[in-house]
Amino acid sequence: MSYKSAKAFYTQTIATIKEEGLYKDERIICSPQSSKIRVKFPANSPEKEIINLCANNYLGLSSHPDVMKAAHEGLDKRGFGMSSVRFICGTQDIHRELENKMSTFLGMEDSILFSSCFDANGALFETLLGAEDGIFSDKLDHASIIDGVRLCKAQRFVFEHSDMSDLEEKLKNSNCRNRLIITDGVFSMDGDMAKLDEVCALAEKYDAMVAVDDSHATGFIGKTGRGVHEHFNVMSKVDIITTTFGKALGGATGGCISGRKELIELLKQRARPYLFSNALMPAVVYASLRVLDILTASTERRDRLEQLSKRWRADLTAAGFDLKPGNTPIVPVMLYDAKVAQAFSRDLYEEGVLAVGFFYPVVPKGQARIRTQISAGLNQEQLDQALAAFIKVGRKHGVIK
Ligand SMILES: *Cc1c(COP(=O)(O)O)cnc(C)c1O
Repeated sequence: MSYKSAKAFYTQTIATIKEEGLYKDERIICSPQSSKIRVKFPANSPEKEIINLCANNYLGLSSHPDVMKAAHEGLDKRGFGMSSVRFICGTQDIHRELENKMSTFLGMEDSILFSSCFDANGALFETLLGAEDGIFSDKLDHASIIDGVRLCKAQRFVFEHSDMSDLEEKLKNSNCRNRLIITDGVFSMDGDMAKLDEVCALAEKYDAMVAVDDSHATGFIGKTGRGVHEHFNVMSKVDIITTTFGKALGGATGGCISGRKELIELLKQRARPYLFSNALMPAVVYASLRVLDILTASTERRDRLEQLSKRWRADLTAAGFDLKPGNTPIVPVMLYDAKVAQAFSRDLYEEGVLAVGFFYPVVPKGQARIRTQISAGLNQEQLDQALAAFIKVGRKHGVIK
């Protein structure tokens, strides 16, 4: 066979993506991840130092000296790679230590590590639910949840975003053995929180389990940063939390499911991404342990993040921007049009600010935006500079007066 006709097909598909203004160019970063980074964009242009408003580096720990030191220590003491899945010969003492520490941090009974939270969500549903069971999923749940659900034979009920009466309707009219409600804790594209107190109340009423993907919350939401279940004071009512080490918790790689001990025990026996994919590298495990120590010792970072985020949201609102409502460090500036979002982002870059445009397929068509994310690693002076850039570019595009 020849690649000829297939090549024409894929070339055309890519051309269409470009025509629709949906093509994504990667910015090349030539420094560690931080609130100030050196970037080349386009890739063949010279390096430029800019303020970073779009990393998931919520707590400013991605390049924290103590975290890097712990990673070095992990390399020195436990080597580079595990060359095994966990159940064959890939479990070190530190893997169990991290699982136990995550359980304590999140207030859960036990935990299981994965290579990523994408894998954790790929494992969760298929392992715990069968055709007789039902999954109740928020319409805006993360892509990895949607894919995880696809792998599972359970009945699917998708409720309108944070619409508790729709969820109740679906719970009431379902006929299932076990029910599981799954929601993002913080919705990554809109920056709003799930109504977890109401979700838990409905779960109690209709005998359902509650699972939360707290990837955009673990480490900083709630008064000691445990997550959305702490924020709503329902820590004992949540059965399962999936989360990532790839965002606030140092930002390297790795995921985790924490929850009821029978569920974790079963996942360790049956979860395919656990049984058939490599164990986390020791350096990541060491560094993640250190991150949990830092967060347990003081709430200073999450407190600063909360304060900077509130101010950023208030300042953009006062400047006249149209924001998605919320109270998290994710602050989306709505522009609606994908091409405007792209141009806006390019102009911000010229002004020394990295804030990327989001458009279809990561958000619905006609809902393009610039998603800004605050980090405890930023300071007010940098945010004032960023605000000035937003105002200048906003006026240029007629987005604000
Ligand atoms: C980022 C994210 C993931 C994926 O996490 P990785 O560890 O990077 O695979 C899963 N769920 C949600 C809600 C996320 O935001």
